[in-house]
Amino acid sequence: MLVVMKNNATEAQVKAVIKEIEGMGYRGVPMPGAQRTAICIVGNTGPVDDSGLMILEGVKETVRVTKQYKLVSRETHPQPTTITVGDINIGAGKPVLMAGPCAVESEEQALTIARRVKKSGAEIFRGGAFKPRTSPFSFQGLERDALKMLAKVKSDLGIPVITEVVDIQNIGLIAKHADILQVGARNMQNFALLKELSKLRHPILLKRGLSATVTEWLTAADYLLAEGNRRIILCERGIRTFEDSIRFSVDISSIAVVKHFSHLPIIVDPSHAAGHFAYVPSISKAAIAAGADGLLIEVHPNPQEALIDGLQSLNIPNFERLMAELRPIAEAVGRYI
Ligand code: PEP
Ligand code: MN
Repeated sequence: MLVVMKNNATEAQVKAVIKEIEGMGYRGVPMPGAQRTAICIVGNTGPVDDSGLMILEGVKETVRVTKQYKLVSRETHPQPTTITVGDINIGAGKPVLMAGPCAVESEEQALTIARRVKKSGAEIFRGGAFKPRTSPFSFQGLERDALKMLAKVKSDLGIPVITEVVDIQNIGLIAKHADILQVGARNMQNFALLKELSKLRHPILLKRGLSATVTEWLTAADYLLAEGNRRIILCERGIRTFEDSIRFSVDISSIAVVKHFSHLPIIVDPSHAAGHFAYVPSISKAAIAAGADGLLIEVHPNPQEALIDGLQSLNIPNFERLMAELRPIAEAVGRYI
Protein backbone atom coordinates (compact mmCIF):
# COMPACT_ATOMS: atom_id res chain seq x y z
CA MET A 1 0.00 0.00 0.00
CA LEU A 2 0.99 3.56 -0.70
CA VAL A 3 0.23 6.52 1.54
CA VAL A 4 0.03 9.59 -0.67
CA MET A 5 0.75 12.85 1.16
CA LYS A 6 -0.87 16.19 0.32
CA ASN A 7 1.28 18.56 -1.77
CA ASN A 8 1.88 20.82 1.19
CA ALA A 9 2.60 18.02 3.70
CA THR A 10 5.51 18.80 6.00
CA GLU A 11 8.54 16.67 6.76
CA ALA A 12 7.22 16.17 10.31
CA GLN A 13 3.93 14.84 8.93
CA VAL A 14 5.81 12.39 6.68
CA LYS A 15 7.82 11.23 9.71
CA ALA A 16 4.65 10.77 11.76
CA VAL A 17 3.18 8.55 9.03
CA ILE A 18 6.35 6.44 8.91
CA LYS A 19 6.23 6.09 12.71
CA GLU A 20 2.61 4.96 12.57
CA ILE A 21 3.48 2.40 9.85
CA GLU A 22 6.33 1.08 12.02
CA GLY A 23 3.93 0.83 14.94
CA MET A 24 1.77 -1.42 12.76
CA GLY A 25 4.78 -3.75 12.35
CA TYR A 26 5.75 -2.71 8.78
CA ARG A 27 8.29 -0.39 7.20
CA GLY A 28 7.55 2.89 5.41
CA VAL A 29 9.81 3.92 2.55
CA PRO A 30 9.37 7.57 1.50
CA MET A 31 9.40 8.20 -2.25
CA PRO A 32 9.70 11.96 -2.77
CA GLY A 33 8.48 13.12 -6.19
CA ALA A 34 8.21 16.41 -8.04
CA GLN A 35 4.52 16.87 -7.15
CA ARG A 36 4.10 14.88 -3.94
CA THR A 37 5.69 12.51 -1.47
CA ALA A 38 4.31 9.01 -1.19
CA ILE A 39 5.24 6.50 1.49
CA CYS A 40 5.35 2.91 0.40
CA ILE A 41 4.42 0.32 3.02
CA VAL A 42 6.64 -2.74 2.79
CA GLY A 43 6.83 -5.89 4.85
CA ASN A 44 3.09 -6.64 4.97
CA THR A 45 1.99 -10.12 4.01
CA GLY A 46 -1.71 -9.35 3.66
CA PRO A 47 -4.02 -6.35 3.28
CA VAL A 48 -3.17 -3.32 5.42
CA ASP A 49 -5.81 -1.60 7.56
CA ASP A 50 -5.38 2.06 6.60
CA SER A 51 -7.86 3.57 9.09
CA GLY A 52 -5.12 4.71 11.51
CA LEU A 53 -3.20 6.32 8.64
CA MET A 54 -6.07 8.15 6.96
CA ILE A 55 -6.68 10.28 10.06
CA LEU A 56 -3.08 11.58 10.21
CA GLU A 57 -2.34 15.18 9.26
CA GLY A 58 -1.05 15.68 5.72
CA VAL A 59 -2.35 12.36 4.37
CA LYS A 60 -4.27 12.70 1.08
CA GLU A 61 -5.17 9.10 0.34
CA THR A 62 -4.01 5.50 0.43
CA VAL A 63 -3.62 3.48 -2.76
CA ARG A 64 -3.21 -0.26 -3.19
CA VAL A 65 -0.05 -1.22 -5.11
CA THR A 66 -1.16 -3.98 -7.42
CA LYS A 67 2.21 -5.27 -8.62
CA GLN A 68 4.66 -7.56 -6.85
CA TYR A 69 7.28 -4.83 -7.15
CA LYS A 70 6.50 -1.69 -5.23
CA LEU A 71 9.26 0.92 -5.03
CA VAL A 72 10.15 0.76 -8.72
CA SER A 73 6.51 0.89 -9.75
CA ARG A 74 4.93 3.88 -11.47
CA GLU A 75 2.05 3.47 -9.04
CA THR A 76 4.47 4.52 -6.31
CA HIS A 77 6.30 7.19 -8.32
CA PRO A 78 4.41 8.38 -11.42
CA GLN A 79 7.14 10.69 -12.79
CA PRO A 80 10.11 9.12 -14.61
CA THR A 81 13.33 9.05 -12.59
CA THR A 82 16.37 10.80 -14.01
CA ILE A 83 19.80 9.76 -12.80
CA THR A 84 22.46 12.43 -12.84
CA VAL A 85 26.13 11.51 -13.14
CA GLY A 86 28.25 14.67 -13.31
CA ASP A 87 26.52 16.69 -16.00
CA ILE A 88 24.98 13.63 -17.70
CA ASN A 89 21.31 12.85 -17.20
CA ILE A 90 20.16 9.29 -17.74
CA GLY A 91 16.44 8.98 -18.37
CA ALA A 92 15.90 12.60 -19.39
CA GLY A 93 15.21 11.91 -23.08
CA LYS A 94 18.66 12.14 -24.63
CA PRO A 95 20.12 8.65 -25.08
CA VAL A 96 23.36 8.18 -23.14
CA LEU A 97 26.06 6.09 -24.79
CA MET A 98 28.31 3.99 -22.55
CA ALA A 99 31.16 2.28 -24.37
CA GLY A 100 34.46 0.56 -23.72
CA PRO A 101 36.11 -2.83 -23.52
CA CYS A 102 34.59 -5.86 -21.86
CA ALA A 103 37.63 -5.91 -19.57
CA VAL A 104 40.33 -3.36 -18.85
CA GLU A 105 43.50 -5.03 -20.16
CA SER A 106 46.08 -2.28 -19.66
CA GLU A 107 46.21 1.43 -18.94
CA GLU A 108 47.11 2.13 -22.53
CA GLN A 109 44.24 0.02 -23.87
CA ALA A 110 41.74 1.74 -21.56
CA LEU A 111 42.99 5.25 -22.34
CA THR A 112 43.07 4.63 -26.11
CA ILE A 113 39.52 3.31 -26.21
CA ALA A 114 38.21 5.97 -23.86
CA ARG A 115 39.70 8.79 -25.93
CA ARG A 116 38.19 7.45 -29.13
CA VAL A 117 34.73 6.59 -27.85
CA LYS A 118 34.50 9.93 -26.07
CA LYS A 119 35.45 11.70 -29.28
CA SER A 120 32.64 9.96 -31.14
CA GLY A 121 30.02 10.88 -28.54
CA ALA A 122 30.12 8.26 -25.78
CA GLU A 123 29.55 9.94 -22.42
CA ILE A 124 30.43 7.10 -20.04
CA PHE A 125 33.35 4.66 -20.23
CA ARG A 126 32.74 0.99 -19.44
CA GLY A 127 35.51 -1.39 -18.46
CA GLY A 128 35.40 -4.61 -16.48
CA ALA A 129 37.77 -5.01 -13.54
CA PHE A 130 36.18 -8.02 -11.82
CA LYS A 131 34.70 -10.37 -14.43
CA PRO A 132 32.02 -12.97 -13.67
CA ARG A 133 33.19 -15.79 -15.94
CA THR A 134 31.31 -18.96 -16.77
CA SER A 135 34.53 -20.96 -16.33
CA PRO A 136 36.82 -20.51 -13.31
CA PHE A 137 39.78 -20.98 -15.68
CA SER A 138 38.92 -18.00 -17.90
CA PHE A 139 40.49 -14.55 -17.45
CA GLN A 140 38.89 -13.03 -14.34
CA GLY A 141 39.88 -9.39 -14.93
CA LEU A 142 42.78 -7.26 -13.63
CA GLU A 143 40.76 -6.48 -10.51
CA ARG A 144 42.41 -3.78 -8.29
CA ASP A 145 44.89 -2.81 -11.01
CA ALA A 146 42.01 -2.29 -13.44
CA LEU A 147 40.28 -0.01 -10.95
CA LYS A 148 43.40 2.16 -10.85
CA MET A 149 43.40 2.28 -14.64
CA LEU A 150 39.75 3.31 -14.63
CA ALA A 151 40.61 6.07 -12.17
CA LYS A 152 43.32 7.24 -14.57
CA VAL A 153 40.82 7.30 -17.47
CA LYS A 154 38.46 9.34 -15.35
CA SER A 155 41.07 11.83 -14.18
CA ASP A 156 42.82 12.21 -17.56
CA LEU A 157 39.74 12.43 -19.75
CA GLY A 158 37.03 13.59 -17.35
CA ILE A 159 34.71 10.79 -18.44
CA PRO A 160 32.67 8.94 -15.77
CA VAL A 161 33.24 5.19 -15.54
CA ILE A 162 31.05 2.16 -14.98
CA THR A 163 32.35 -1.21 -13.82
CA GLU A 164 30.87 -4.41 -12.47
CA VAL A 165 30.69 -5.46 -8.83
CA VAL A 166 30.55 -9.22 -8.42
CA ASP A 167 30.68 -9.65 -4.66
CA ILE A 168 29.99 -7.91 -1.38
CA GLN A 169 33.67 -7.79 -0.27
CA ASN A 170 34.68 -5.41 -3.06
CA ILE A 171 31.74 -2.99 -2.96
CA GLY A 172 33.66 -0.36 -0.96
CA LEU A 173 36.72 -0.58 -3.17
CA ILE A 174 34.74 -0.33 -6.40
CA ALA A 175 32.55 2.48 -5.06
CA LYS A 176 35.75 4.51 -4.48
CA HIS A 177 36.73 4.28 -8.15
CA ALA A 178 33.54 3.97 -10.17
CA ASP A 179 30.76 6.45 -10.91
CA ILE A 180 28.23 3.71 -11.68
CA LEU A 181 28.31 0.16 -10.30
CA GLN A 182 27.05 -2.57 -12.58
CA VAL A 183 25.28 -5.70 -11.36
CA GLY A 184 25.69 -8.33 -14.07
CA ALA A 185 23.00 -10.59 -15.42
CA ARG A 186 24.30 -13.52 -13.37
CA ASN A 187 23.91 -11.56 -10.15
CA MET A 188 20.48 -10.06 -10.79
CA GLN A 189 19.02 -12.22 -8.05
CA ASN A 190 22.02 -12.16 -5.72
CA PHE A 191 19.83 -10.58 -3.07
CA ALA A 192 22.60 -10.31 -0.45
CA LEU A 193 24.63 -8.22 -2.93
CA LEU A 194 21.60 -6.08 -3.87
CA LYS A 195 20.84 -5.37 -0.20
CA GLU A 196 24.36 -4.07 0.38
CA LEU A 197 24.29 -1.96 -2.78
CA SER A 198 21.03 -0.39 -1.65
CA LYS A 199 22.96 1.23 1.20
CA LEU A 200 25.11 3.17 -1.29
CA ARG A 201 24.08 6.38 -2.99
CA HIS A 202 26.01 5.60 -6.17
CA PRO A 203 24.01 4.86 -9.31
CA ILE A 204 23.58 1.12 -9.84
CA LEU A 205 22.99 -0.46 -13.25
CA LEU A 206 20.97 -3.66 -12.84
CA LYS A 207 21.17 -6.01 -15.79
CA ARG A 208 18.32 -8.37 -16.55
CA GLY A 209 19.03 -11.99 -15.61
CA LEU A 210 19.54 -14.51 -18.40
CA SER A 211 16.14 -16.07 -17.80
CA ALA A 212 14.35 -13.45 -15.76
CA THR A 213 10.87 -12.17 -16.52
CA VAL A 214 10.34 -8.40 -16.43
CA THR A 215 8.45 -8.85 -13.15
CA GLU A 216 11.36 -10.75 -11.56
CA TRP A 217 13.77 -8.10 -12.79
CA LEU A 218 11.72 -5.18 -11.44
CA THR A 219 11.17 -6.99 -8.16
CA ALA A 220 14.94 -7.50 -7.85
CA ALA A 221 15.35 -3.75 -8.47
CA ASP A 222 13.10 -3.16 -5.44
CA TYR A 223 15.95 -4.57 -3.30
CA LEU A 224 18.19 -1.76 -4.55
CA LEU A 225 15.66 0.89 -3.56
CA ALA A 226 14.68 -0.71 -0.26
CA GLU A 227 17.48 0.93 1.77
CA GLY A 228 17.03 4.29 0.12
CA ASN A 229 19.19 4.19 -3.03
CA ARG A 230 16.99 5.67 -5.74
CA ARG A 231 19.65 5.98 -8.45
CA ILE A 232 18.89 2.75 -10.29
CA ILE A 233 19.20 2.12 -14.03
CA LEU A 234 17.90 -1.06 -15.68
CA CYS A 235 19.71 -2.77 -18.56
CA GLU A 236 18.16 -5.22 -21.02
CA ARG A 237 20.96 -7.47 -22.29
CA GLY A 238 19.05 -10.31 -23.92
CA ILE A 239 17.42 -13.37 -22.46
CA ARG A 240 17.72 -17.05 -23.21
CA THR A 241 15.03 -18.29 -25.57
CA PHE A 242 14.68 -21.28 -27.91
CA GLU A 243 16.41 -19.19 -30.58
CA ASP A 244 20.03 -20.28 -30.91
CA SER A 245 21.19 -18.26 -33.92
CA ILE A 246 22.10 -15.39 -31.60
CA ARG A 247 23.61 -15.66 -28.10
CA PHE A 248 20.63 -14.13 -26.32
CA SER A 249 17.37 -12.71 -27.70
CA VAL A 250 16.99 -9.00 -27.04
CA ASP A 251 13.56 -8.29 -25.63
CA ILE A 252 12.96 -4.96 -27.34
CA SER A 253 9.41 -4.94 -26.01
CA SER A 254 10.81 -4.85 -22.47
CA ILE A 255 11.72 -1.19 -23.10
CA ALA A 256 8.04 -0.27 -23.54
CA VAL A 257 6.89 -2.58 -20.75
CA VAL A 258 9.45 -1.28 -18.25
CA LYS A 259 8.60 2.33 -19.15
CA HIS A 260 4.91 1.56 -18.70
CA PHE A 261 5.19 -0.07 -15.30
CA SER A 262 8.29 1.53 -13.79
CA HIS A 263 9.71 5.02 -13.33
CA LEU A 264 13.31 3.82 -13.72
CA PRO A 265 15.38 4.47 -16.85
CA ILE A 266 16.24 1.50 -19.06
CA ILE A 267 19.21 1.09 -21.37
CA VAL A 268 20.15 -1.76 -23.72
CA ASP A 269 23.39 -3.76 -24.00
CA PRO A 270 23.41 -5.06 -27.58
CA SER A 271 26.89 -6.62 -27.27
CA HIS A 272 26.22 -9.36 -24.72
CA ALA A 273 22.91 -10.16 -26.39
CA ALA A 274 24.40 -10.42 -29.87
CA GLY A 275 27.56 -12.32 -29.04
CA HIS A 276 28.74 -11.13 -32.48
CA PHE A 277 29.77 -7.64 -33.59
CA ALA A 278 27.78 -7.88 -36.82
CA TYR A 279 24.45 -7.76 -34.97
CA VAL A 280 25.32 -4.93 -32.62
CA PRO A 281 24.38 -2.01 -34.94
CA SER A 282 20.85 -3.29 -35.73
CA ILE A 283 20.05 -4.00 -32.11
CA SER A 284 21.39 -0.59 -31.08
CA LYS A 285 19.26 1.20 -33.65
CA ALA A 286 16.15 -0.75 -32.65
CA ALA A 287 16.75 0.11 -29.00
CA ILE A 288 17.09 3.84 -29.66
CA ALA A 289 14.01 3.85 -31.90
CA ALA A 290 12.07 1.99 -29.20
CA GLY A 291 12.90 4.63 -26.58
CA ALA A 292 15.82 3.16 -24.63
CA ASP A 293 17.54 5.73 -22.42
CA GLY A 294 20.95 4.63 -23.57
CA LEU A 295 23.24 1.87 -24.79
CA LEU A 296 26.13 -0.08 -23.26
CA ILE A 297 28.45 -1.18 -26.07
CA GLU A 298 31.69 -3.16 -26.06
CA VAL A 299 34.49 -1.58 -28.07
CA HIS A 300 38.05 -2.83 -28.56
CA PRO A 301 40.75 -1.39 -30.83
CA ASN A 302 41.83 -4.88 -31.82
CA PRO A 303 38.98 -7.31 -31.15
CA GLN A 304 40.94 -10.33 -32.42
CA GLU A 305 43.34 -9.84 -29.54
CA ALA A 306 40.81 -9.02 -26.82
CA LEU A 307 41.23 -11.17 -23.71
CA ILE A 308 37.47 -11.50 -23.48
CA ASP A 309 34.41 -10.97 -25.68
CA GLY A 310 36.39 -9.98 -28.78
CA LEU A 311 33.84 -11.42 -31.18
CA GLN A 312 31.08 -9.14 -29.95
CA SER A 313 33.25 -6.05 -29.63
CA LEU A 314 33.07 -3.30 -32.22
CA ASN A 315 36.39 -2.02 -33.45
CA ILE A 316 36.83 1.74 -33.33
CA PRO A 317 35.82 2.52 -36.94
CA ASN A 318 32.71 0.35 -36.54
CA PHE A 319 31.81 2.18 -33.34
CA GLU A 320 32.28 5.54 -35.04
CA ARG A 321 30.10 4.40 -37.94
CA LEU A 322 27.39 3.21 -35.56
CA MET A 323 27.38 6.55 -33.73
CA ALA A 324 26.88 8.34 -37.05
CA GLU A 325 24.08 5.94 -38.01
CA LEU A 326 22.31 6.32 -34.67
CA ARG A 327 21.94 10.08 -34.95
CA PRO A 328 19.30 10.17 -37.74
CA ILE A 329 17.42 7.31 -36.05
CA ALA A 330 17.25 9.26 -32.81
CA GLU A 331 16.12 12.36 -34.68
CA ALA A 332 13.40 10.42 -36.51
CA VAL A 333 11.80 9.65 -33.14
CA GLY A 334 12.24 13.15 -31.75
CA ARG A 335 15.44 12.53 -29.82
CA TYR A 336 19.06 13.42 -30.40
CA ILE A 337 22.47 11.92 -29.77
C1 PEP B 1 29.46 -7.33 -18.95
O1 PEP B 1 28.79 -6.29 -19.17
O2 PEP B 1 30.69 -7.31 -19.02
C2 PEP B 1 28.78 -8.61 -18.66
C3 PEP B 1 29.43 -9.62 -18.11
O3 PEP B 1 27.50 -8.62 -19.03
P1 PEP B 1 26.28 -9.60 -18.61
O4 PEP B 1 26.21 -9.56 -17.12
O5 PEP B 1 25.12 -8.95 -19.28
O6 PEP B 1 26.59 -10.96 -19.17
MN1 MN C 1 31.71 -8.69 -22.04
